[in-house]
Amino acid sequence: MTLLVVGSANADLVVRVPRHPGPGETVLGASDLAVHPGGKGANQAVAAGRLGARAGFCGKVGDDPNGERVTRTLAEAGVDTAALSVAAGVPTGVALVTVAPGGENTIVVAPGANARLTAEEAAAAVTPHVRVVSAQCEVPLGAVCAAARRAPRFVLNASPAEALAAAPEAAEVLGYADPLVVNEHEMRVLLDAPGGGGAGNPADLLRLGVRSAVVTLGAAGAVVVCPDGGTATVAAPQVEAVDTTGAGDAFTGALAWRLAEGDGLADAVGWAVRAGAAAVQESGAHLSSTACGKLLGRSA
Ligand code: ADP
Repeated sequence: MTLLVVGSANADLVVRVPRHPGPGETVLGASDLAVHPGGKGANQAVAAGRLGARAGFCGKVGDDPNGERVTRTLAEAGVDTAALSVAAGVPTGVALVTVAPGGENTIVVAPGANARLTAEEAAAAVTPHVRVVSAQCEVPLGAVCAAARRAPRFVLNASPAEALAAAPEAAEVLGYADPLVVNEHEMRVLLDAPGGGGAGNPADLLRLGVRSAVVTLGAAGAVVVCPDGGTATVAAPQVEAVDTTGAGDAFTGALAWRLAEGDGLADAVGWAVRAGAAAVQESGAHLSSTACGKLLGRSA
């Protein structure tokens, strides 16, 4: 195992809506309920596994069918689940997702078992062959920080950024990030937080103490920020978006996979934008095996 993903595993409960409801409003769904395995951590690990990464997953699920489903999906993607544990008597995390026409989504997460992942468990999962640890912010930041301390290289997807900004470990965790991966909303949240120095452009993320950064820009691709403050834009393939859920996760999973295989940051981002574009062309948060096959075929 050369890539370890530390993060959340959820069940995504998804309904398509004609538009998102405002406060106090009820909107009738435009689809039946669909239940998909999800969670930022599991999404990233499944994308990496399906792309061929030698990946493992460290996280926590409940002893319920949602936990069994996401565990099975990880294993079927070739992801090592030895560090995925079960919390008795606690539900697996759940995300309530609404998807509007054009693919724009809103998400509410009930963390469940994810909130029980400990620093000891995360640190123990970083075994000697691991070259890259990739984490997000849907599990306790103490666990993320413990894994980051032991990581030869650490990829931090600051999502949700509000959870990172509020955590006492934020400065230490950001200091390990190489790169920090954020979308434009997350960039604003981190730069507006105390110590962030206020709103700015991608290169300003270096003020947070990160070693490098990547800002995802939806259909416009991504900006890479090098340690010296130099930036480069990587365009995304032009595609028709049907569901943007999990685009950032496919992006980060592919990025972490390529870094673990020894690619430089710019080359890894080239793969990541193609994985993100593939993800928005299908529903559900997990990058499908078919999409991964196409990506590998096209780029071989
Ligand atoms: P998040 O899902 O975290 O909000 P983005 O929306 O920035 O992140 O998307 C992440 C990546 O997915 C982008 O950098 C891009 O590579 C890809 N992507 C997202 N939306 C589109 C789109 N409409 N067309 C092509 N690629 C897209």
